Amino acid sequence: MVKKSVCLFCSLGCGLACRVEGREAVAIDYDRNNPVNLGALCPRGYYNYELLNHPGRLTSPSVGGEDGSWGEAASKVRRELQGIDPGSIGIVVSPLMSLEEGAIAAALAEKLKTRYLCVGGGLADNDAALGASWRLAEDHPATLEEIETSDRLLIIGDILTRTPVLSRRINAVKAKKGSRIIVVDPHRSHAAWFASRHITLKSGMEVLFAAALVKLLSGADEAELAALTDKIGVPMSALKETAADLFGPEPGTVIVVPSPNRRRNDLLIYFVRILAGLTNKKWISFHEGGNIVGLNALFDGRHPGRARYFELIKKLKQGAIQGLFLLGEDLSDLESVAPKLLIKSRFFKSKLSREAICFPQASHLELAGSYIFSGNRRENALPLVPAAGGRDLAAWLAEIFELDVEGARHQAADTAVKMAGELFDLETVMNEAAKIEPMPDCQVENVTNFAGNELASNFFWYRANNKR
Ligand code: SF4
Repeated sequence: MVKKSVCLFCSLGCGLACRVEGREAVAIDYDRNNPVNLGALCPRGYYNYELLNHPGRLTSPSVGGEDGSWGEAASKVRRELQGIDPGSIGIVVSPLMSLEEGAIAAALAEKLKTRYLCVGGGLADNDAALGASWRLAEDHPATLEEIETSDRLLIIGDILTRTPVLSRRINAVKAKKGSRIIVVDPHRSHAAWFASRHITLKSGMEVLFAAALVKLLSGADEAELAALTDKIGVPMSALKETAADLFGPEPGTVIVVPSPNRRRNDLLIYFVRILAGLTNKKWISFHEGGNIVGLNALFDGRHPGRARYFELIKKLKQGAIQGLFLLGEDLSDLESVAPKLLIKSRFFKSKLSREAICFPQASHLELAGSYIFSGNRRENALPLVPAAGGRDLAAWLAEIFELDVEGARHQAADTAVKMAGELFDLETVMNEAAKIEPMPDCQVENVTNFAGNELASNFFWYRANNKR
């Protein structure tokens, strides 16, 4: 039997089809009618299903590294939480989780009376989600279809490493007579192969490049622009020609890839949104975690005063977080700052499992769930196979804390991406951007980077050892 689902390893959200025999997913079968990807998958999408059959997966809870029952683990959680100050509890939800799971985590935050509720997946994507939520007089987000109908593309970052399957749409633009594709990246990236013009600049200076375009189009004087281009490491001609390419009647899209290779991805998204408005173009961003935009929108709507990811990490490092729920998420630098109580749900045991109360994590391919991908596209997926270990996050969290699963489902269904954050004036944001300095040269991302998490090594272990 062939069943359909989606890939969550980036925010393009390609459709995939999988051959299922009994309770087991046995092979990928391409979903050629899917309008997002026409069946195409990158290596991350292709190997999605292999996680399901991995013999090393956690299928029962463990306490302090020892296997235990669901009841024992649940009682331990309840007991240990009694000694923790509610204001010092953090909840981090993987961006590979559904809106329904996110809504359960939000209900948990409410129950525990904590404001530390955030999406994992790293600073770059979370900052970008923050920049996308700031209020502007007008906003012009693009759909996937509008990328393909563009005559002008400005691409900031390596879109084809982050989101390889988007190459079909970029190629469609490239094939058009008179189209222009401008790629801004310090490296000769994969995306640069498609470029009509590749603008190289000092590492991490993309934010200031976008700010300089905004300044140029708003009538800044030559001396100010000369100082900026000097700091960015681009000739003034590159800035002016990019502005001229964008500023015209042709349909166009600015595509942004948030990256850990630059600081202040929030400001980059903010400037790109203003730039799109000034040039009558649209904008879209592509992220590493599939549902990062949807989950941030859900949490912003439900808990407007919540702490963001960077605040939680800061508090953790200060030792101010005593209890931490890591739901489908690992924090690599946690070992040095481990809180008093750590409750995790994961696919595999990790070093941190010895210190934690661990629950097995179901894959999104085993659950029904909804997701919001780039272009604010919503997808609902059905399970391919039953969850290993038999229980999903919503079931065990709801049981331990008596959470309202039905209410959470309604909240997931009502989630929409909208401007919910602060309103800043341009000068304030320009002043913030002016503080950015070039970064040391960074490694180019690799297409087989599975969101920097445990899945990477385990996928390939399984592939090498499974003879089927
Ligand atoms: S492009 Fe993104 S969504 Fe598509 S298969 Fe690759 S990782 Fe998955």
